[in-house]
Amino acid sequence: MKVTEHIKKANGKTLFSFEIIPPQKGRNIQELYDNIDPLMEFNPPFIDVTTSREEYVYIDKGEGLLDRKITRMRPGTVGICAAIKHKYNVDTIPHVLCGGFTKEETEYLLVDCHYLGIDNVMALRGDAMKHQKYFEPTKGGHTYATELVAQMKDLNAGKYLHEVIESDYKTNFCIGVAGYPEKHLEAPSLTNDLKRLKEKVDAGADYIVTQMFFDNGKFFDFVEKAKQAGIHVPIIPGIKPIAVKKHLQLLPQVFKIDLPEALISEVEKCRTNNDVRQVGIDWAVQQSKELQKAGIPVLHFYSMGKSDNIKAIASQIF
Ligand code: FAD
Repeated sequence: MKVTEHIKKANGKTLFSFEIIPPQKGRNIQELYDNIDPLMEFNPPFIDVTTSREEYVYIDKGEGLLDRKITRMRPGTVGICAAIKHKYNVDTIPHVLCGGFTKEETEYLLVDCHYLGIDNVMALRGDAMKHQKYFEPTKGGHTYATELVAQMKDLNAGKYLHEVIESDYKTNFCIGVAGYPEKHLEAPSLTNDLKRLKEKVDAGADYIVTQMFFDNGKFFDFVEKAKQAGIHVPIIPGIKPIAVKKHLQLLPQVFKIDLPEALISEVEKCRTNNDVRQVGIDWAVQQSKELQKAGIPVLHFYSMGKSDNIKAIASQIF
């Protein structure tokens, strides 16, 4: 079922959902299931599965020679979506990236999703590769998520690349895109970023999931400004509990987001990472309660593959 239909069916009740990351290549999938199992009691209508960018690895060939190979360290997004969908009878949402894929490869991936009965896809540009300062589009691929949304929308209209086939059977994907309450790190201003977000919606996006934020005021402000910019699709807040002290530096550095002073000072007081984890849970609970009261459709948690703190939060909300 489509995310928009789940929201409609919930009739104003806030739903619970979360995002997982595929295991590293060569690791057992059981660890992932062990972290999903404890969260199923909160009845997530859908689970997102991320896609990682490809990266370079260097193989020592001896005598000072290194062979450079390109690989994806966490493959299997669509396979995991299919496995989880059938194991738990839940909708799964693969993250589809511009970066690392040609338009043809994207088409094949979307055809796979369609055959697997996947109704929702998340259209994302993807980050720059580790060695790049800025995102560089893949040759034959898309530059911005808007173009990816347009390709998905074309497929929904039965329009395949190069129009080499005649199709009388259409896909019917519900399309999600990313939004940034504190603006995307490359955007020159929030107003400009909202203009780009509106372009994604105009291209066919059905809903928005936000980047993590720790100050609900910023989310409410973003939703208001989005409305003023003419964006009227559901906006789903992304919540991430702080789990280790290092997050105080890491999260602002990677995502260019601000942390509230009150949260920083609570984390700084902590003696152990267990204390930090508890502060992170308490903060996310308080955020979630306020968001739920404001009537947001879904609380979407970034689990980073670990369920214990998400379970601790969800059990106080749902
Ligand atoms: P876009 O919407 O294409 O925007 C990127 C930048 O370009 C923005 O600054 C925007 O303002 C600007 N822009 C857009 N259109 C134009 C234009 N026409 N001209 C000039 N500028 C323009 N990354 C992963 O690698 N894998 C994942 O699974 C993943 N999941 C995510 C899930 C969520 C909910 C979120 C919020 C992010 C996720 N990301 C993921 C990160 C995301 O890929 C990065 O934030 C990426 O840098 C931007 O992606 P986007 O889809 O928002 O890009």
